[in-house]
Amino acid sequence: MKLDVDALRYLSKDDFRVLTAVEMGMRNHEIVPSELIDRIASLKHGGTYKVLKNLLKHKLLHHDSSKYDGFRLTYLGYDFLAIKTMVNRGVFDAVGRKIGVGKESDIFEVATEDGTILVMKLHRLGRTSFRAVKSKRDYLRHRSSYNWLYLSRLAALKEFAFMKALDEHGFPVPHAVDCNRHCVIMSRIQGYPLVQVKEFQNPDIVFETILGLIVRLAEHGLIHCDFNEFNIMVDDDEKVTMIDFPQMVSVSHRNAEMYFDRDIECIFKFFGKRFNLSFNETEVANDDSEVDSDEGCRPQFSDIKKVSGFLDKELEASGFTRKDQDDIAKFIDVDVEKDPNSDSEGLDDGDTVKGTSDVSSSNFESLCLNGKEGDLKLDCSQDTCKENSQIGHETREDGLDESGNDTRVETQGRCDSGSEEEEEHDSKNPELIKSLNKQRKCAIQSARGRRKAITSRNTYKDKGGKSSYNSKIQTQLSSW
Ligand code: ADP
Ligand code: MG
Repeated sequence: MKLDVDALRYLSKDDFRVLTAVEMGMRNHEIVPSELIDRIASLKHGGTYKVLKNLLKHKLLHHDSSKYDGFRLTYLGYDFLAIKTMVNRGVFDAVGRKIGVGKESDIFEVATEDGTILVMKLHRLGRTSFRAVKSKRDYLRHRSSYNWLYLSRLAALKEFAFMKALDEHGFPVPHAVDCNRHCVIMSRIQGYPLVQVKEFQNPDIVFETILGLIVRLAEHGLIHCDFNEFNIMVDDDEKVTMIDFPQMVSVSHRNAEMYFDRDIECIFKFFGKRFNLSFNETEVANDDSEVDSDEGCRPQFSDIKKVSGFLDKELEASGFTRKDQDDIAKFIDVDVEKDPNSDSEGLDDGDTVKGTSDVSSSNFESLCLNGKEGDLKLDCSQDTCKENSQIGHETREDGLDESGNDTRVETQGRCDSGSEEEEEHDSKNPELIKSLNKQRKCAIQSARGRRKAITSRNTYKDKGGKSSYNSKIQTQLSSW
């Protein structure tokens, strides 16, 4: 899916008002009735219908008249709402090219006012692997076909919270900068996904570093659950960074050992195959029978001193509550038979980003938005907006608006779920706000400091991609 932000610049305050009204209506309507949108938006002179037409034209909404006349948000519409909020908060002000296509996300470069390049991950839960989600459908009862909004937001919130907590514990992860709706902003990692690397100077050191990370994670009470060559970035100094955290589980999960072993196995397999590392898989025992002595170097789950619940406090501090954890666990029940190779597809050779230092600002589409100063108070007193706790979506019953107002400066740097209670709670906690603000500044600062040229060692990539699809994206983005 393209992210044509061009339209974003021309959307008016009223456009965003109506878009936000649809988002609100979707808390408990799969398709939001047109009259309800009109009531929530309460534009003068019945202007809602004209605006709806415009939003439809830009594919920000989908029209459905099968049961009654109504609309729902498209991914693009949801993207625009999140991007506008971020821009209004001053997190970034330009969107650049797509640098990754994960199975459940799209990843773009974005640029701050001073030219620092960050990464924007837009979660798209339910896009492809809705299998696990489907089986849990009854949880959302009649809300099945629009739960992607809620799930994507939860996934983003979880990713942000874990990234931040892991960073604070010294794990090599991107710096979490901000989060809104299904969108996470993080520092850009220099380097390549491991899957694209053909040779290392010290493959055994990289191998051990990666294994060490899995062990250290477990010692901190966590298992990545998707620890494979697609979710490990390596730079030219062979420094390893791990990414992609929405599926992490606690070591107290009932299948923890299996997930741990699977992460370990992925790494053994990959390094054995790609770099011909041998692990003394077999050795001759005294009785001349061959035994598996791989255990000698293979970390065992039972040997690890685990401290479960260690990161809980930090996770809560990012707005990711125990309830959120339980909710998302219901959906992302890590699929036992999951094929790790089906993970992120990355981009093919032609599209691989060669470091940020050579990314000229002309690759970025600057977003000078309309209605930035707007006072967008939506009437959410309608019956539909009351019953929102189940869907867990942004609450704006006080009339605050994410996309139109810059009313949330004081909460910058945290991943807001948008919930009113959390908002209130956080604003009463100046310590938390201060530390989150500081964290965000640090994240941007260190993203700035990390800009260095990437040289050519990894110029040959072995990973094919959807070249035609990507080249289309390139054409579109390069014209920005
Ligand atoms: P998914 O959850 O959909 O698998 P990932 O977080 O794994 O998404 O990201 C997909 C791809 O995007 C990665 O393989 C990597 O190429 C790129 N990517 C993601 N995050 C970053 C980052 N912070 N810096 C640079 N590239 C990134
Ligand atoms: Mg991934």
